[in-house]
Amino acid sequence: MKIHNPANGNVIGDVEADTSAKVRAKYARARAAQPAWAELPIKKRLATIAAFRERLAAMQDTLAGTLTAEVGKPIRQSRNELSGLAGRLDFFLAESQRTLRSETVLADVDNKLEERITHEPLGVVANISAWNYPYFVGSNVFVPALIAGNAVLYKPSEYATLTGLHIAQMLHESGVPEDVFVPVIGDGTTGSALLRQPVDGVFFTGSYETGRRVAASAGRRMIKVQLELGGKDPIYVCDDVDVKAAAAAVADGAFYNNGQSCCAVERIYVADAIHDEFVDAFVDEVRGFPVGEPTDEATYIGPLTRRAQIAVLKRQVADARKLGGKVLTGGEPIDGRGNWFQPTVVVNADHRMSLMRDESFGPVIGIQRVSGDDEAVALMNDTPFGLTAGVYTRAEKRAKRILARVHAGTVYWNCCDRVSPRLPWSGLGHSGLGLTLSTYGIRTFTRPKAWHLRSI
Ligand code: NAD
Repeated sequence: MKIHNPANGNVIGDVEADTSAKVRAKYARARAAQPAWAELPIKKRLATIAAFRERLAAMQDTLAGTLTAEVGKPIRQSRNELSGLAGRLDFFLAESQRTLRSETVLADVDNKLEERITHEPLGVVANISAWNYPYFVGSNVFVPALIAGNAVLYKPSEYATLTGLHIAQMLHESGVPEDVFVPVIGDGTTGSALLRQPVDGVFFTGSYETGRRVAASAGRRMIKVQLELGGKDPIYVCDDVDVKAAAAAVADGAFYNNGQSCCAVERIYVADAIHDEFVDAFVDEVRGFPVGEPTDEATYIGPLTRRAQIAVLKRQVADARKLGGKVLTGGEPIDGRGNWFQPTVVVNADHRMSLMRDESFGPVIGIQRVSGDDEAVALMNDTPFGLTAGVYTRAEKRAKRILARVHAGTVYWNCCDRVSPRLPWSGLGHSGLGLTLSTYGIRTFTRPKAWHLRSI
């Protein structure tokens, strides 16, 4: 399998993809190794994750360089992802032991009856992952899964394979046995071979289309399945904001990582009274984003990771134009080698346009004028997705009223495109099933076992 640099198309790696037979053999190794891993005291498993954290910090420059080379993420943003990962690991290191401790829920001395809950690992889990934040979305799964005593078959995206191999090597060097964390290398074909193994759970991050297939496969076998899928995340900008500051914050939420974030701002609704002023400030901001080589420290917008996305963005812009949308900046691919698209802002957008309905996952955003809170809420909820949604206003009560009515796993007041390890990360509808992060996202890699204990 050839690995390409999305900035210029150069081949930067050549790795062997796993055949079905190899995937089967990897599964068998993981199955055999899991019980001994689960029997270790949790402190020992936590120590491997603490060592992994140290290794990540020591290797940061190399890891950031690889991420930038294979995904095209601007180098500063690659480093940000790695520093952010340390915070997530700290959360798991601090909270796992307490969260996974067994609980006595009844101690009836008179009747000599005790009721207890223990949190048992699922067993062998498959983690099929995405490329856009490979450290974040991967570690949300494999770190708590390992801490809880599972063996993990980890399939990085074919667009983040070298990063996946780095992760495996660092975990092994940190003391996780090679048969307990097993990288499975390849594209969707390898992913479906992995799904054919009798694993105990599937934890998937990726698109809605692939997620449906994964869910169908897991459903037939009645194993635990979690899906972290796409979004069409809205922001509503109310009439009482500091327009420049809101425009800068929302533009960052839409264009950071070239818009290739599951929780990137994907559509914007602006109150009529400030619409024109907001659009001017927003377009100024977007025009100021440095576009360039992802290895350059100054770059904010780099190439798209996947070449195929250029066609999606072209179609969305063409469809919006046809239906009355006005492109104020950008709108075209950037000529040359590699996968480039101009940062693009479309106004007069509305929900007839695919730009406002389907995930763009790129540097393209639509802005729609709204008359007030009710219209904004109706439009925000007019989607099969439900990952995040946000509102910008000075008024706290108003914000909370609006956010209470919005269907989304995560809601934001005066912020966006933000993930916290302390809060559950989940999506409604086409955005997924289940959750990661928070203490719920530790227990999700276990099944509760009920103990009825009567001493005689
Ligand atoms: P994708 O669905 O193309 O691929 C995801 C993974 O599935 C890859 O590892 C791929 O090789 C594998 N795969 C493909 N076909 C398969 C099959 N038939 N069986 C098993 N595995 C298969 O998605 P992507 O392009 O890697 O990621 C982008 C998507 O992920 C976007 O929609 C984005 O919003 C979403 N995402 C969501 C979250 C979240 O937390 N909700 C986080 C990051 C990305």
